[in-house]
Amino acid sequence: MKKASKLLILLASIVTVAMFAGCGETHSHKYSSDCDTICNTCEEVREVEIEHTATDDGDCTTALLCELCGEVKIEAKDAHTADEDDGDCTTAVECTQCDKNAVEAKDAHIAGEDGNCTFCDVQAVALIGDAFYTSFSDALNNWSDGTTLKLYSDISSGSIFEHIEILNKSVTLDLNGHVLDGSSVGVLFYVGNEEVPTGSLTIQDSGSNGVIKGLNGVATVFGTLNLKSGTLESGLGNTSTGVINISGGKVIGHTSIGLFDAVGNYGILNISGGTLCGGPAIENQKNGVVNISGSPTIEGKENLEGYGALLEGTAAAISNKGTVIIDGSPIFKSAKYEIYVIEPVTILTQPSEGMSWRVNVAKNSLSDKVVIVKPETGITLDPGKFVSVVDGYGVVKNADGSLSLALLGKAVAGVDGKFYTDFNEALNNWSDGTTLTLYSNIADGTNGTIEILNKSVSLDLNGYVWDMRSISCPIYVGMATAKEWTDGSLSIYTSQYGGQIKGGSYSLFVAGTLNLYSGVLQNGVLVSVRGTINMMGGSIDGNTNDYIGIDNYGTVNLSGGIISATYCVYNREDSVVNILGPIILNGIKRGNILGPAIYNKGIAVISEAPVFRQNENNIELDLVSPITLKTQPKEDEVWRVNMSASNITANNGVFALPGEGVELDPTKFVSMVEGYEVTKLTNGSLALIPIAE
Ligand SMILES: [Zn+2]
Ligand SMILES: [Zn+2]
Ligand SMILES: [Zn+2]
Ligand SMILES: [Zn+2]
Repeated sequence: MKKASKLLILLASIVTVAMFAGCGETHSHKYSSDCDTICNTCEEVREVEIEHTATDDGDCTTALLCELCGEVKIEAKDAHTADEDDGDCTTAVECTQCDKNAVEAKDAHIAGEDGNCTFCDVQAVALIGDAFYTSFSDALNNWSDGTTLKLYSDISSGSIFEHIEILNKSVTLDLNGHVLDGSSVGVLFYVGNEEVPTGSLTIQDSGSNGVIKGLNGVATVFGTLNLKSGTLESGLGNTSTGVINISGGKVIGHTSIGLFDAVGNYGILNISGGTLCGGPAIENQKNGVVNISGSPTIEGKENLEGYGALLEGTAAAISNKGTVIIDGSPIFKSAKYEIYVIEPVTILTQPSEGMSWRVNVAKNSLSDKVVIVKPETGITLDPGKFVSVVDGYGVVKNADGSLSLALLGKAVAGVDGKFYTDFNEALNNWSDGTTLTLYSNIADGTNGTIEILNKSVSLDLNGYVWDMRSISCPIYVGMATAKEWTDGSLSIYTSQYGGQIKGGSYSLFVAGTLNLYSGVLQNGVLVSVRGTINMMGGSIDGNTNDYIGIDNYGTVNLSGGIISATYCVYNREDSVVNILGPIILNGIKRGNILGPAIYNKGIAVISEAPVFRQNENNIELDLVSPITLKTQPKEDEVWRVNMSASNITANNGVFALPGEGVELDPTKFVSMVEGYEVTKLTNGSLALIPIAE
């Protein structure tokens, strides 16, 4: 209502009154309007029902004034009265009292930390910068170059109907702890396409447990895909133009039928962190390049279901048909083998301490010898760190430093995992600290005399026979001549039953140290003055000259195994024999030789009773010098003793000296000398004395 017009009307009334003033006549009252109660002429007040005339402007917060008199018809309200709020700040709240809005609509929601609008109840599905989206497809439509689409809600499977193309733009998806379920679409993302192979998608999860689910894959990559964090449940397909960089997060192969590869790679795949799991974890195709650095976990899980069961190599962490370069310290996991080779893998690093990588080779790629790994310049590959899982094949080091899987049947021997088809080449490489392993029987005449000098080596007969019968003494462990002595050490075992060494007169001459763990030495051992034999197991037969098992001029320590000979141990003057464990000594009578287990001219000490093979064709002790006994015959056992007449005289009959604290029992010993019997002397020794008449 207009106050100014009321003033004009009042002014007009005053003029009218002035015109009729002083006439004293009866008159018709004059009123300015229907709602004027005072006559303009006489000022008499009339009594009428006043109806002000006013037009409502539709706003209850302004007063309604009479158009005729200017009086207030309806007072202004202090504020509008809000209708019920729909909880959406982008729609207005109307006034129940007028046509105006009680609360105006906002242009857009403003997200708080949790994705809720700070002004209303509306929850964002996604934000792109500050832009607030309540629909995922709206967000996708506005996901422009350089922006990050951050999820604030799980996106359910039914809400995505076609794959999402990232073309000609570089964008980031932040899962923010939410699930993006694209399993209603075959492959959820196309990063670039065949015609436009550009586009970059970075996936990260600023929350925890963010997941993208795909049916046949999370993404097919023609451009670039960067995975920093978050889990991709279903694999990635990298095309020949694609680059995938995985620095964190997890990729699990698609699981439509069994578990397939986590990444199928025709392009460039750089892995510096994160976890890949699939059958195989990485399937690198022809022309594909995989660079592994850092310490990602790459786990192969064999796929035995459906179509997967027809595929080879699914148990591998890496199946390679292209180029794989391994640097850093990846953690490969597999129940069967870590690497499946169709093409060899290039290596800058090798399995860390105590670890090895098992290698399988594709059936079609397998020949007598196939390269499996190649070293990068400056790297020396250790064949012992790679294990063949192909039956009948072993890991061989090639002249160029690469490693091959080679058919073992063709190898004659190996040295520390390196295989040789020429036995003498193997012998030439049998250097200090190494083990020579036989992979076939070695025929007599193959090699000359073996000298193990100034080195410590092992020999694994591996179940084979090394025949050197044409060489009188074929193996020298150390060397002793009248002028000089050279050390050397040999440990012999056979990891498979049946390993043997056959010599001419002897099997070995020992001037250094021989450790015998297992295997058969068919022709006895000659131990030189400075030599030592430690026999823990295995078997020694007598030499072909005088049927002696161990002919000892040095030191013999016996704790296990078996010696079968006419003289099991022939201990020379000043030489030492220690019996320290349950060695089996099987004397064999030959002609007028009684077949003694121990023939002693030096120092013989029995600390633990050996197992004597006792029968009528042998005796236990044939003594020139007395033997020291720290133990004595077991229950139900007696030891037979022989000593020549001249030696009885020289020793005053004494044949056994008690060890400290040992009380020898003379009834446990039997004299083999006619006319003599065993007696115990006052000093505790046992002696052979003539039987009293
Ligand atoms: Zn009047
Ligand atoms: Zn009025
Ligand atoms: Zn109102
Ligand atoms: Zn809002």
